[in-house]
Amino acid sequence: MYLAAMRSIALILFVFISYTGTAQPFYGRTTGRLPYLNYGLGEDRLGGAKMTYLDSNILVKVVDSVKADYKIQLSSSHFAYLPKNHFRRDTSIKIQPHYNTASWRIWGDDKHDFVSIALPEKLPYRVQQEINPSKIIVDIFGAVSNTNWITQLKTAKEIKNAWYEQLQDDVFRIHILLKHQQHWGHLLYYNKNALHIRIKRQPESLKIKNLKIAIDAGHGGVNTGATGITTQIKEKDYTLKMAQQLEKYLTSKKATVFMTRSEDVDINMIDRTLMLREQDPDILISIHLNSSSNQAIKGTSTYYRHIGFRPPSEKILDRMLELGLANFGNIGAFNFSLSGPTEYPNTLVEVAFLSNREDEQRIIEPKFHKDVAKQIYKGIKDWLKNIK
Ligand SMILES: [Zn+2]
Repeated sequence: MYLAAMRSIALILFVFISYTGTAQPFYGRTTGRLPYLNYGLGEDRLGGAKMTYLDSNILVKVVDSVKADYKIQLSSSHFAYLPKNHFRRDTSIKIQPHYNTASWRIWGDDKHDFVSIALPEKLPYRVQQEINPSKIIVDIFGAVSNTNWITQLKTAKEIKNAWYEQLQDDVFRIHILLKHQQHWGHLLYYNKNALHIRIKRQPESLKIKNLKIAIDAGHGGVNTGATGITTQIKEKDYTLKMAQQLEKYLTSKKATVFMTRSEDVDINMIDRTLMLREQDPDILISIHLNSSSNQAIKGTSTYYRHIGFRPPSEKILDRMLELGLANFGNIGAFNFSLSGPTEYPNTLVEVAFLSNREDEQRIIEPKFHKDVAKQIYKGIKDWLKNIK
């Protein structure tokens, strides 16, 4: 009786395991605006940790489905999660066991350097910045080296050196060593089946008047942001006031300024991101006001996601602290949407807390908006001065 029971439990378990384990993988391509991969299924307030943005039409292999995401197999030992709305199934794809890389070309136009790698298929990739020395590391999943030719032209100015390693049997890693310590941004995309890594050069002149600075006033329209604890003021109105003061200040210093919004309108994050990509600024400053359920928490803080973009956030925070605000910190790896772009350095400034009475009193003062603008400007100047 006991044995029979054990046997049926074993049988049920076996059936269950085989059933969940034999789900057939299927293939398709990335689609929609700004598809991205997440490392895991973490769900923070601003979304889980992103591995990379991807171009559209990239081949992906789905091995599982978890709520709103597909689990994607990138290589024999790499997995990621792709939101289902960024996937379209394609049964016509002829899958090869692996894909050979071909020749590379390294060159430049008037503003950017490029590395292009010919591939037989649009394969998924991920990219990260390294510092000291400054490098861009790109992993192409499913690719096997057959690269026997790397053309290097003098028109490339920022790329000091580039090479590859076959990191694993099915992971091809590209190393790009940069000339300057400061990262100015990179963008990956496919042109036909050639993967292009576009690298922005350090501007020839680091004078404010020769730079293009983008300013993003947080929230707007129906997206009101946080609310002042005693005054009920809306975050969207005060981020705009401060952004406009910064615009005024930078314009008086002859900088070229681009504002994502100059009025009370709701622009979603994808639109802002694509608008900024189009503008190709030398740096982006996002302005927000913080809020916490703990009313005692106060202070100013700056944020970045990519390590190569940390320097301006540090310098701006130092200058913001001169306003006598508490130090809430310099925060890295932050998952705010506009900290995500890799195309240009960017800093998010959370000026002070609307949920703290003391900070709120500062935020409502018009003089404070001018002071914030001036301190951000000084921080940008300090950052530029330190660039070699
Ligand atoms: Zn905000």
